[in-house]
Amino acid sequence: MLNGYIDLRSDTVTQPTPEMRKAMYEAELGDDVFGDDPTVNRLEELSAAKMGKEAAVFVASGTMGNLTSLLTHCGRGDEVIVGSEAHIFRYEAGGSSALGGIAQFQIPNNADGTLPLDKVEAAIRGSDQHEPRTRLIAIENTHNRCGGTVLPPHYMREVRALADRRSLQVHLDGARVFNAAVALGVDVKELTQYVDSVTFCLSKGLSAPVGSVICGSKDFIARARRIRKQLGGGMRQAGVLAAAGIVALEKMIDRLAEDHANARRLAEGLADMPGFIVDLDRVQTNILFFELAPDVKVDAEVVTQRMFEQKVKLIGPGVHFRRFRAVTHAWVDRADIDHTLLAFRNAVRN
Ligand SMILES: *Cc1c(COP(=O)(O)O)cnc(C)c1O
Repeated sequence: MLNGYIDLRSDTVTQPTPEMRKAMYEAELGDDVFGDDPTVNRLEELSAAKMGKEAAVFVASGTMGNLTSLLTHCGRGDEVIVGSEAHIFRYEAGGSSALGGIAQFQIPNNADGTLPLDKVEAAIRGSDQHEPRTRLIAIENTHNRCGGTVLPPHYMREVRALADRRSLQVHLDGARVFNAAVALGVDVKELTQYVDSVTFCLSKGLSAPVGSVICGSKDFIARARRIRKQLGGGMRQAGVLAAAGIVALEKMIDRLAEDHANARRLAEGLADMPGFIVDLDRVQTNILFFELAPDVKVDAEVVTQRMFEQKVKLIGPGVHFRRFRAVTHAWVDRADIDHTLLAFRNAVRN
């Protein structure tokens, strides 16, 4: 429950825990653009260590992390290979093209969030002067629009091998990479060892109020820091935010398993209920997609409204769609899931 509602719109709605608020209040601060904020420095060191990289830089959002990373990897006229369902392609306002002159080659994602590697290979450009220069492959783990699906380590390894063979870099949009690691039961480094750069979000399932971190080599992060400044993202006493991020990394990772169990419970409950279609194989972490069955006469907007009246917030899929997304997080417990299932039963009555 959050302000009297079960809010399943996203895990971004999570709020700082009491321990985070205390850490924010007590944080030692300095001017981070001068490198003087000890709390930001600690968050960056901790993040780099967790990801198995040399260095890290704190940024305002996941979008800024991806944008900064792409601008660091690619120059104007260079090309990044991305999935057609990627957050970078769909939901970042075309930032890398608008601000960096970076071309995007989109490849249809497989249903599980991977990119077919033969298609990736075929997309890599030659040296002909007509063509943009392929620089980067960007992958996403967990994959949001494919249902919070997990890309396994062996797939990540294959992407790395392909990139090495063709002299390309690999960026991981790891907004929810800790969900992937927890779902697999592996250290997150098992996944990040295969990429040159990774962005992860502190402000989603990990419940910090603001912020993401980019990790990579020392040289890459030094260049990314300059780009962050260009974008206006050099923050000053950012330690008030970083303090919450440190608590997020120390206390909030292991509990993501509860969110996964709750998403599973919700998905299984809906699958057992008339009126809903759920692909249970794709419910692997804290995200689930489901559809209204053809025999449900009420439209999705009405379902959204009826759920709201029963204290459950969902993003309405829009008048022409019947597919919903729900996301579990630390402010949704097992009892909330049971309430949500009852509410759904009521909401689809003709
Ligand atoms: C949420 C998200 C981001 C970044 O989102 P911000 O709201 O900018 O922090 C990036 N990639 C994926 C896959 C996401 O789900």
